[in-house]
Amino acid sequence: MRTHLDALTTVRNLGILAHVDAGKTTVTERILYATGTTHRRGEVHDGTTVTDFDPQERDRGITIFAAAVSCAWDGHRINLIDTPGHVDFAAEVERSLRVLDGAVAVFDAVAGVEPQSESVWRQADRHGVPRIAFVNKLDRAGADLDRAVASIRERLHPAPLVVQLPIGAEDRFTGVVDLLRMRALVWAEGSDTAEEVPVPQGLREEALRRRRVLEEAVAELHPAALEEFVGREELSAETLAAALRDVTRSGDGVVVLCGSAYRNRGIEPLLDAVVAYLPSPLDVPAVRGGHDGTEQERAADPAAPFAALAFKVSATPTGRLTYVRIYSGTIGKGDTVWDAGARRGERIGRILRVQADRHTQVDRALAGDIVAVVGLRSARAGSTLCDPRAPLVLEPPGVSEPVVSVA
Ligand code: GDP
Repeated sequence: MRTHLDALTTVRNLGILAHVDAGKTTVTERILYATGTTHRRGEVHDGTTVTDFDPQERDRGITIFAAAVSCAWDGHRINLIDTPGHVDFAAEVERSLRVLDGAVAVFDAVAGVEPQSESVWRQADRHGVPRIAFVNKLDRAGADLDRAVASIRERLHPAPLVVQLPIGAEDRFTGVVDLLRMRALVWAEGSDTAEEVPVPQGLREEALRRRRVLEEAVAELHPAALEEFVGREELSAETLAAALRDVTRSGDGVVVLCGSAYRNRGIEPLLDAVVAYLPSPLDVPAVRGGHDGTEQERAADPAAPFAALAFKVSATPTGRLTYVRIYSGTIGKGDTVWDAGARRGERIGRILRVQADRHTQVDRALAGDIVAVVGLRSARAGSTLCDPRAPLVLEPPGVSEPVVSVA
């Protein structure tokens, strides 16, 4: 099982949180494109974005149903859980927050923090979901990263840790300086892949200044992580990244990146940041549940009794798909699981990994994973599915402590 546990470290169960119109759909789309999950770029305005399976959703231009899509980046599997951005679907946002281990909060570089970004942020706080921030639409007239960052500090309160300096602004936004590695990433017109070049001469001083601001902010939040470097000239990118990871997971600070999803700029560094800073299923506390008045815990261990939460059910041409987050144990096709809410056994039909509009069948799914199961009849969004020999009901959200919280 050791190898299974090792494999878990390369899983990221990720959500994208945003105010309507901040660009969540476009960011999702570009992530799927960058990870090779889709081979053509969908555009939101022509209704071809791949996460929007539902015709009603296309019509309305808002994401109504959360869908989980798996993609691969840098040796990691990213399970992207689509969270509804519309305020009318707060319960669904809440449910999807339960199954995430980390999130990217998308902000509009012109509008900054908007009221709804604030309410989703608070919900994520309640669930203890570590986040990084992506300030989108830097290509727009009036875009201002510093102002957006100030609004994150003032309205959401974590210390913003800005790790990039934009190169150019509005329609001349062409790249970013990576303040950890002190290298520039530049997107040529019409190119989707960044070229790495030295920091442009005219930006060196500003980049160094911002790098010092970043170091000081990290040192303040996490003195222990940087202690051995006090007094030294150079702080390595790796040391700083390790400290940023700790600060992200504690929730005291939020790493801020920027870009333009529409122009496909900034998505690759965002994916690198997801892998570097957000936690794996092994890094989050064990989920809690109850059975007959006793409290139980289920750690992210493939050998432990099976426990999972169904978070979305959708009717598709493939059949009734139940999306589940597996917290512990392993399931295989043909296994019987216990639906704790309906109090009945259910048989697992096929297990699918959903990649945008395609499905890949897998034999087994393990703790930490997010898959869609075909063949369940009673499970609803919010149902606990578990080993019939070790039944439990996972705690509903909002009752006592959050289900997933970071120590
Ligand atoms: P959502 O409601 O958060 O899912 O936002 P969408 O991804 O649907 O984007 C809302 C609108 O903003 C659409 O018209 C997008 O084309 C546009 N948009 C998204 N990202 C960018 C960006 O980086 N720059 C600009 N200028 N427009 C963007």
